[in-house]
Amino acid sequence: SRAALFEGGDKVKITFKDVAGLEEAKEEVQEIVEFLKNPSKFTILGGKIPKGALLVGPPGTGKTLLAKAVAGEADVPFFSLSGSDFVEMFVGVGAARVRDLFKQAKAKAPCIIFIDEIDAVGRSRSRGSVPGGNDERENTLNSLLVEMDGFGTDSGVIILAATNRPDTLDSALLRPGRFDRQISIDKPDINGRTEIFQVHLKPLTLGPDVDARRLSAQTPGFAGAEIANVCNEAALIAARRDKKMVTDQDFTDAIDRVIGGLEKKNKIISPGE
Ligand code: ATP
Repeated sequence: SRAALFEGGDKVKITFKDVAGLEEAKEEVQEIVEFLKNPSKFTILGGKIPKGALLVGPPGTGKTLLAKAVAGEADVPFFSLSGSDFVEMFVGVGAARVRDLFKQAKAKAPCIIFIDEIDAVGRSRSRGSVPGGNDERENTLNSLLVEMDGFGTDSGVIILAATNRPDTLDSALLRPGRFDRQISIDKPDINGRTEIFQVHLKPLTLGPDVDARRLSAQTPGFAGAEIANVCNEAALIAARRDKKMVTDQDFTDAIDRVIGGLEKKNKIISPGE
């Protein structure tokens, strides 16, 4: 991907039908879609559309996907950047990048700005901050706050941000007129997983013994990203076995492999636990 400053400004083809489950979250963002399609209809009566909403949930549950689908449904450009890139890659220039991004977005409005891992820039400023230390991140956060305050909803820019740690965010970000809405994106239950499997099974050539419901029963605790991974892995395993179709056995082996990968990752993240 273009890891440069930020991605974007292009239209996306992803729509709600690519996002399985998450019915409540889709309902909540529907208002944003309506607004982006026709901003003046909403502002003419004096109503204020929220500028930003926070998508809250564990990794891999479809937060990025949903944000893209909002842009796709409304047929507007999608800008995105990741909070951690900002802090790590752009030392000394974070604040300027934020200003640049908002300038470009306003020029292409109506549009969506998506900020992944906002906690990386948006951590509470009081938390363990040494006076004079970590100025870079604070400057970036301050410029984000300034930019958010600096445009009205009539500018047609909506900011969606993702986090799995809303408790760590600086309260200034959560004030009215900023990210004053939270939309929770939970891990899927068995029905949600079945729907996600159905989406990711669709492009594959499947044997007659493959059953989405049974696969979802075999994958408790999996998020959408892991399910997508299983489907891709199963197709690769079947290809390696010179098969003409992906069968249930390939999925069982793929699930084992993905579980193995998750276990390894957890070990690395929490040694000695
Ligand atoms: P992170 O917090 O790690 O950035 P995320 O919540 O933004 O994760 P996504 O990047 O949206 O997760 O999901 C990764 C991939 O997993 C998606 O591109 C998609 O292939 C698949 N996926 C996740 N959730 C769903 C879903 N609800 N329906 C269909 N596919 C999904």
